[in-house]
Amino acid sequence: MNKIDDIYVDRLYPYLAMFRIPYFSSGNEKAFANVFLVIDDELMLIDAGPYSEDKSSKLTYALKQSGFDIKDISRIVYTHSHPDHMGGGLGLDGYKGIRHCIYREAKNKVEKYGEYVSSVKSIAKNIFSELLFLYPEAKDTYFDVVDHFWNPTYGEIGIDEQLDEGDSISTGKLKFKVIFTPGHSPWDITLLEETKSLLFSGDFLLSKSSTMTGGLNGFGSDLISYESSLKKINKYLDQIKCIYPAHGPAITSFSNLTDSLLAIVKGREDKIFNAISTNNCSLMDLMKVVYPSIDSVIVLARCLGIVLTHLEKLENESKIHRIKDSDEVRFCLGR
Ligand SMILES: [Zn+2]
Repeated sequence: MNKIDDIYVDRLYPYLAMFRIPYFSSGNEKAFANVFLVIDDELMLIDAGPYSEDKSSKLTYALKQSGFDIKDISRIVYTHSHPDHMGGGLGLDGYKGIRHCIYREAKNKVEKYGEYVSSVKSIAKNIFSELLFLYPEAKDTYFDVVDHFWNPTYGEIGIDEQLDEGDSISTGKLKFKVIFTPGHSPWDITLLEETKSLLFSGDFLLSKSSTMTGGLNGFGSDLISYESSLKKINKYLDQIKCIYPAHGPAITSFSNLTDSLLAIVKGREDKIFNAISTNNCSLMDLMKVVYPSIDSVIVLARCLGIVLTHLEKLENESKIHRIKDSDEVRFCLGR
């Protein structure tokens, strides 16, 4: 494995390399996104990693380390449109040979990428303005993470191919089947490489935890879609050798993966519902119930979103509702 400037390049197989590229840092914390390079008759990237000021220099650097050049790439498939995976696609407009591919319905929303980022950024903030009104410290921390994450607010990425459930992408010997797995975002896709039995899961399946929903994601992530995507992917898992997520290490043991993720989601929902059944709760009361100790700003931002997604689901099911009680939004039982 080569490591320079915090960009890690790992040649996993003759036909596959993995790049680990930093996209966020705060104090000692650093978060990385994975990009995969498929080396076949054609070169294909799965995701492009985060935006970099100087025209995709991070991506270019990682490709060079693998013995390739950005102009050799014929296709970039985005697992979803979030900036830690798609931002790196900005600044590649000079490379006309690269086809940018994303889930069908995302095309119109994300081609004007900067506008998309700005609008999600304001949604991601607005939903918490009232909920965190009495918690300025948590609010500032969260807003800061949003500002770092939803960046940059300008630029365009022309989409050349709109992908749909069941589509097949060939790079020569390798064949990638598109599986629509929304939940983390409205447009997540998972790629199943059928000849080597590998799964590229974006942010849908991560190594140690359930995916992030809500909050920082801005819009379009929901637990009902996430649960059905988990049930859908389950039927592929016994033919799979390895799962490569867009963050963290490969997942090599996954016999109970979907069941355990569904159980995590259910366990959180029960905790939240039980707490509200006992007392009216603010968002921050519920954070303490579900996540009693958080020592990372990134984790705090993620967890606020997850708890809110549960609350939205319970509200949609009319199990709870929100009231405003002297400047504080509280959640209570019933309609
Ligand atoms: Zn991500």
